[in-house]
Amino acid sequence: MNTLKDADATSLNTLNLDTSCTEVRLVKDPGEMFEYLFQLDAEERKQVKVCGELSNTVIGEAVNGPLLLFRDGQDVKIEKNAGSVIVKVPATFSFDELVNIACEEGISGVEMLSGIPGTVGAAVVQNIAAYGQKISDVFFSARAFDIATGTILNLNADDLRFSYRSSVLKPRDSYTPDKILLDVTLKCGSPEKLQEIQHTEILAMHREYGRQLDHLVDRRTTVLQVRERKGMVVGGANWLPTAGSYFLSPVLPKEIALNLAKQIRGQNFADSFLTWYQPDATTTRFPAALVMRASGFMNGDSWGNVGLSPHHILAICTYPGATGSDVVALSDLIRAQVTERLGIALEPEVRLLGNFTHKDNEKLRRKFVPGVGEPEWALGLGNPEGTRRLVP
Ligand SMILES: Cc1cc2nc3c(=O)[nH]c(=O)nc-3n(C[C@H](O)[C@H](O)[C@H](O)COP(=O)(O)OP(=O)(O)OC[C@H]3O[C@@H](n4cnc5c(N)ncnc54)[C@H](O)[C@@H]3O)c2cc1C
Repeated sequence: MNTLKDADATSLNTLNLDTSCTEVRLVKDPGEMFEYLFQLDAEERKQVKVCGELSNTVIGEAVNGPLLLFRDGQDVKIEKNAGSVIVKVPATFSFDELVNIACEEGISGVEMLSGIPGTVGAAVVQNIAAYGQKISDVFFSARAFDIATGTILNLNADDLRFSYRSSVLKPRDSYTPDKILLDVTLKCGSPEKLQEIQHTEILAMHREYGRQLDHLVDRRTTVLQVRERKGMVVGGANWLPTAGSYFLSPVLPKEIALNLAKQIRGQNFADSFLTWYQPDATTTRFPAALVMRASGFMNGDSWGNVGLSPHHILAICTYPGATGSDVVALSDLIRAQVTERLGIALEPEVRLLGNFTHKDNEKLRRKFVPGVGEPEWALGLGNPEGTRRLVP
């Protein structure tokens, strides 16, 4: 285990936030994690903060106490059976590297999740999802360290109670969950069990490049390409430091959702939207990105060294020198404006870690510089208003 004292963790989080941590421990191996936690008493264990690649975390200016970076794991075990494939992987393993291996090996079920940063452990905790797949679809079981009792537990899908971008392991009010995942077993499909691609954007790009529909590596290539044009691949084309989508899609009454969809993207989009979001009788999840557009925000809007990505409005991005407080101040400003204009409460998807010392919405507001408008891919989804900013 590599330990750093008074470490600058700026390059260790995908938002590149300026931060200082009293103690950072890099832990690759679940066995090492177990040994470290086992020698602490229950109170000390509760103080430990466990994270993966900090790709869904806004880190404050200071973090006190041990921050365990539980990442860079190795060693995937694959067992191919008739009709299914069992994949056993440490929680520290890079999730996207796992998807890469799965596609190369002809293992289906995670290919549409290509390009999502972070570790396998965090992927399960957050129930990551994209383009019609979610990790809970292939989750089979996991081993976890229980913080309270100091013992190892075996968990199955029922224990984890997966829901939209969440599981029982994702606590609302603290950073570290009650249970730390050590390793994960997935039950994936064989190549014959390929899911139909339903997402129109992916299908269109796949066809444009003449790729094979039944080829997993081709599917991964297309997904990465679509994500890159949105700046959603860490270090890829159009990349600006972000934590991915900042807000969760809110649940709205169906009629309100349809009106907003029509207002921003036109009637055709509104009609097709319902097949995607599969609403129940009266409510539906609705893209937070469209809620932001309908509240008067625009791609590329910036406030000093924080802003909305020009490539994806839902990604709060940072410029050099940004701090966690700047990001949280912008998040607060967005939430306040959305509530004021539409009466909708946006909830952040990201987790907050550490101390945030100088949130100042008023100062931030004065630094506003308007963005240039929506990128081509978003306009292609429907644009009755063109790139005009909507001011209710
Ligand atoms: C460019 C970009 C694109 C993204 N696209 C998507 C997307 O399409 N879909 C999607 O769902 N998400 C997406 N995300 C969000 C993010 O990648 C995922 O939430 C990812 O799973 C976070 O992994 P991490 O290792 O960075 O977690 P961290 O940010 O380090 O931690 C997140 C939470 O998980 C907990 N945690 C971490 N490891 C463990 C463990 N072993 N046991 C228990 N708890 C643990 C932490 O305590 C923390 O509360 C994107 C992010 C970025 C930056």
